Amino acid sequence: MTNLPCGIVQDLMPSYIDGLSCEETNEAVLAHIENCSECRQALDAMREKENRESADNNKKDVQYLKKIKRRSKIRVFSAVLATICALALVILLKLCVIGSPADPSLIRYASTVDADANTVQVSMMPIGGGTKLIDEKLTVDNDGRALISVKKARCLFGARADRMPCSVTVPLGDDNGSAPLSSIYIGDRLIWQYGLSISEKTIELYAARTPYIGNASAVGKIANLLGISSVCGNYLMSLQTSAEPYGMTLEFQEPCGDTEALNDNMNRFSSVLIALVDNLDRVSWTYTDSQGNACEQTVGSGDVLPQLNLKDCGKSELALQRLLNSLGL
Ligand SMILES: [Zn+2]
Repeated sequence: MTNLPCGIVQDLMPSYIDGLSCEETNEAVLAHIENCSECRQALDAMREKENRESADNNKKDVQYLKKIKRRSKIRVFSAVLATICALALVILLKLCVIGSPADPSLIRYASTVDADANTVQVSMMPIGGGTKLIDEKLTVDNDGRALISVKKARCLFGARADRMPCSVTVPLGDDNGSAPLSSIYIGDRLIWQYGLSISEKTIELYAARTPYIGNASAVGKIANLLGISSVCGNYLMSLQTSAEPYGMTLEFQEPCGDTEALNDNMNRFSSVLIALVDNLDRVSWTYTDSQGNACEQTVGSGDVLPQLNLKDCGKSELALQRLLNSLGL
């Protein structure tokens, strides 16, 4: 085996290069190429080719791996994008189509009785732009209390809420066995009772009522809600709380040109104050007339509307609404 022919040695070369031949063959090949330059060159050429091929293969593998990596990146990105889109769609649906319960204090409303149709028409409008009212529902219980529930939703693409009126027709009842309508609520907010529309101002004033004249901030809030300073001018308020009859005094700061109007307005405002502050007995106001005379007026409970018990007028929204209506406020 020491002197193999060139053809056999070259046949053995691929196995030799790949390390597949046995020790004995390896030795015979090595011994041969030591003395045969032709076979040595053939072996070198074969090795070079082998190296080139394996480098090519490596390159292809790397490219393939890169491709896989790129694809999986695209896949992850697409999944994230799809999730974001789905979430956005859900949020959009929730905001614009499904909506959420509307806060009754953020709804402007009006009610009109349609005697011919025996119904009350309640129209509603959200306060604040960009929202609309949807999904209005009406239930009437056995006591004739009508409850309107409504949801608010965002307007899409700048649509204007005032072009999307929301109204509910409430039957007045008392026919085909249904109870006569006693009151209408939007959510927890009373808006109509026994034929009277209860205004937002009434609801706010009623919510601001207080048992004690000593509660200066509560009394001041009622005065603000009535708009006394914008109608009658700026004043300083003092409370007489040390002994009955309890009272309050408004000192108007600027000279008064139309004392008749001032006294008329103050008579009406004072009646509401007496109705809404349980232990307030009288309201006084002082002013300087155009001649520079210091004047003082006082009204007590029965002075302006002797037919009404003012204290009873502060006991319900309906009674307060009747008082405001009789006072023209
Ligand atoms: Zn040879």
